[in-house]
Amino acid sequence: MSKVNIKAPEVQVREKRLGSITGFEGTAKELVERGRCRKLKDSSRNFSQCIGCSSGQALCQLAMIKDAAVINHAPVGCSGDFFCFNFVYRVGQMDRDLPAINGRYFSTNLEEKDTIFGGIKKLEDTIREVYKRVKPNAIFITTSCASGIIGDDVEGSVTKLSEELSIPVVSCFCEGFKSKIWTTGFDSAYHSIVRKIVKPPNQKSNKVNIINFWGSHIFDDLLNELGYEAKYIVPFSTINELENISESAATIQICTTLGTYLGAALEQVYGVPEIKSPPAYGIAGTDNWIRELGRVLDRKQQVEEIIEEEHERVMPKLEEYREKLKGKTAYITAGAAHGHAIIALLRELGLDVQGAAIFHHDLVYDNGDSASDALAHDVRTYGDIKNYNVCNKQAYELVNILNRVRPDIMIARHGGMTIWGAKLGIPTLLIGDEQFSFGYQGVLNYAKRILETLDNKEFVTNLAKHSSMPYTKWWLEQEPFTFLGGGAHVKNY
Ligand code: SF4
Repeated sequence: MSKVNIKAPEVQVREKRLGSITGFEGTAKELVERGRCRKLKDSSRNFSQCIGCSSGQALCQLAMIKDAAVINHAPVGCSGDFFCFNFVYRVGQMDRDLPAINGRYFSTNLEEKDTIFGGIKKLEDTIREVYKRVKPNAIFITTSCASGIIGDDVEGSVTKLSEELSIPVVSCFCEGFKSKIWTTGFDSAYHSIVRKIVKPPNQKSNKVNIINFWGSHIFDDLLNELGYEAKYIVPFSTINELENISESAATIQICTTLGTYLGAALEQVYGVPEIKSPPAYGIAGTDNWIRELGRVLDRKQQVEEIIEEEHERVMPKLEEYREKLKGKTAYITAGAAHGHAIIALLRELGLDVQGAAIFHHDLVYDNGDSASDALAHDVRTYGDIKNYNVCNKQAYELVNILNRVRPDIMIARHGGMTIWGAKLGIPTLLIGDEQFSFGYQGVLNYAKRILETLDNKEFVTNLAKHSSMPYTKWWLEQEPFTFLGGGAHVKNY
């Protein structure tokens, strides 16, 4: 278990805290077993295409707090992702019947001379200007490679400006160069929130924290039925709402890759119990998860009744879908925890999962509980997964493998990855909302979307006919892991 220390200004990167890796090829079972024996060593690549940055993942959460502002203490190029988050923020507001206003994101625009003379004055001037312009209830300062390398005293500045402006001005250390695991940025954002925004509880409430991205609000009915209320965090919450998440009765994570640190921090620092079963994907996974929820919320009997009703409702439909999907093959590319969730969903539907390119792997989550290991749950419940590749969005590896495996469908969780399946004429399904496939109904939702995608094969067949591939014939004939050193090279495609 990693020890949460809210006195420290920054959280340790995942490589150190969770033993996380970005390079592996073999089978899922091998990965789980090596992880259990702590025998897993990262395999680095001697050729790499660009990867994500922690700063973007930190912004992904902080940028959606309704009454906060974010200042990126960085050269302006690091803010190239602002428009994406502003788009998501505006769409999310419209979905929630809120006026679609722009997000409040700013850059200190560090220039060459600032890297010599220091950027602190620029940072402090920017904080004052942002406060004057938008009057936020908190200001988060996300750091960058440049501000980290020149050693600007960001912590000193935020302490001074918090007193001066009488609002929390909070540092969030998320320099891209510090970690190859970009999801470290989620931990940095949550560390800032737990350290400087969340207040100790005055009383317990009947709310349940749902750590999520910005998906649909699917927990309302279930929690209301159990006498509780869902509190979706962090996107679309306010500073005042975040101050009180220490009073909640429990914390649910929609994705353990996202919420591992916040779930553990709330439990360790404020005693809010975390639901530790892997999130509810697939029938077996949902049974486990909902029983754990019933245990933590003291609703065991009610939960057993829900399981019985839901099985009665869902299983006949699931059998129909299984019949239709019999013999179909699939390949997955996604982040770690949600990738494990998709594997469970596909295996539940009877698809033959021919492999997966999963962006990183955490040996353990922050709670240190092996019960949270979703990949182990998949292997135990549905059997091994061959061609299990930990690959931080290296498109050249993905294309090489896809070209060999040629599944009936590719499933992707992130935009930008689907194009590779489509260029090869492989029907590809992108589902960005984790909540869509959560729980019993989620299995049916997913099955319907897979069938729709398979029905529309002609679209990608035509697309493939008229598109070219940037990779040469030479590369496609090489072993896909030619540039990955030191892993278990098991060839089973
Ligand atoms: S913080 Fe570093 S890795 Fe991230 S966008 Fe800026 S320069 Fe690139």
